[in-house]
Amino acid sequence: MERTILGRVFLTISTTGDPGRPATDLGFLLHKHPEKAQTFSTSHGTAHVFYPEASAERCTAALLLEVDPVALVRRGKGKGRGGAPDAALAQYVNDRPYAASSLLSVAMSAVFKSALNGVCRALPERVQAPMPLRIEVPALPARGGAELVRKLFGPLGWTSVDAVAVPLDEQFPEWGDSRYVRLVLEGELRLADALRQLYVLLPVLDDAKHYWVAPDEVDKLLRAGEGWLATHPEQKLITSRYLSRRWGLTRQAMQQLELVRLAESDDLDVESIDNAVDETTDTEEKPVPLAEQRRAAVLEALRAAGASRVLDLGCGQGQLVQALLKDVAFTEIVGVDVSMRALTIASRRLKLDRMGERQAARVTLRQGSLTYTDKQLKGYDAAVLSEVIEHLDLPRLPALEYAVFGSARPRTVLVTTPNVEYNVRWETLPAGHVRHGDHRFEWTRDEFRGWAREVAQRHGYGVDFVPVGTDDPEVGPPTQMAVFTMTTADGTAKQSGNRTEKEANAA
Ligand code: SAH
Repeated sequence: MERTILGRVFLTISTTGDPGRPATDLGFLLHKHPEKAQTFSTSHGTAHVFYPEASAERCTAALLLEVDPVALVRRGKGKGRGGAPDAALAQYVNDRPYAASSLLSVAMSAVFKSALNGVCRALPERVQAPMPLRIEVPALPARGGAELVRKLFGPLGWTSVDAVAVPLDEQFPEWGDSRYVRLVLEGELRLADALRQLYVLLPVLDDAKHYWVAPDEVDKLLRAGEGWLATHPEQKLITSRYLSRRWGLTRQAMQQLELVRLAESDDLDVESIDNAVDETTDTEEKPVPLAEQRRAAVLEALRAAGASRVLDLGCGQGQLVQALLKDVAFTEIVGVDVSMRALTIASRRLKLDRMGERQAARVTLRQGSLTYTDKQLKGYDAAVLSEVIEHLDLPRLPALEYAVFGSARPRTVLVTTPNVEYNVRWETLPAGHVRHGDHRFEWTRDEFRGWAREVAQRHGYGVDFVPVGTDDPEVGPPTQMAVFTMTTADGTAKQSGNRTEKEANAA
């Protein structure tokens, strides 16, 4: 068959220089010499890199991809997409030359591999440094239009994100806009970061990946998303589109990203206010820190419930696990936390490596996120969520609710959280502040009770409330605890209010 070249897609990357740092350094960073036009054969056609301008003051590199639809179809077959030549694909390639489709992202990864990875032996220090960049994509297929383009690039550190819809036909503006957007990004970023954003976001905007989505796409996404995707407000859209809306992979990626985000914001145990003494405790003896009072309240409630197999969900650095180990009534203790750092500290605190066999058999520490169901958490007598819920973004709370009350379903669940009303009593806390930098919310007694009653009702539990710390007549106790007890025989909690996991995650 005659080899036809139908589509050409491209983008340009420009930088400016200053004395001592010529703009042509861009050539080193991209590993492509400014004086040579270079051609690479990629899986979907031929990629060209050339420099329309290359002086010490300004340097522009252009990437052009000549898409070879024959190769594309052949490759599609080989990869097991079902084998049928993709008619829609040929049409797509014909649709508009120079469109920066998802294929461009594939070409980028082939042609700018080292630059994407931030590797440059010639100029190692420049790789790490932000540089003035202007990136232009003249025809970016964008499902969601210019507005989505701005939403996706907006939070990524550019000083200007200029996205304008391309008219269907310049001469007939009344025909309206095409599905293409002209994008110009300007700002000071590291080249590798900019390339990795494009590598992910071009196919996301295109929303039509023309190659097989394999499980290793999750790894690719996480690698390219390092440093920006975990905290991106459109993370869900990006992840799900990038992975061609495959729910299983999307879930897996989101879970990993959550681990990353939490590990990054991981400055626990600076719950300094917790370790501070409750000044209002009216006692002659040495006052007891609130954290200790809370552990005592939790232990008492667990004993009252007759629990022996206990989950400590969001166990942090293991203080409660340690206290539980001291009481032989607790025969099996599982601490779960999303933070590897906290778990490492916990295992040191417990001296897990030096523990006798019988003790060691009682305790397990596991990394996991509580917003995802986990079969291994089923069948326990009790679960403790001590000062954990307020670390979750409110929209993630239904997912935790489902994982704990819908899926794990221990007989007893203890939830403690700060009572925000009490904050006025902390002398060291400025007005209107939460107690800890990572607290996403703090609730009044009414708010907490309202939430707890609904949860109980949805999942077949009864709930009581116990104050922890001095119960101030006006503002209540510093910590509030809810004690949930299962009321329905298990396996039958099928009230209409029950959500499925998918719904909970979507909420
Ligand atoms: N329970 C301990 C620690 C509270 S700090 C105590 O009472 O002292 C909150 C803990 O919740 C942190 O260790 C944090 O890593 C953990 N955490 C927050 N979100 C989580 C999630 N989604 N899954 C698992 N653990 C989480």
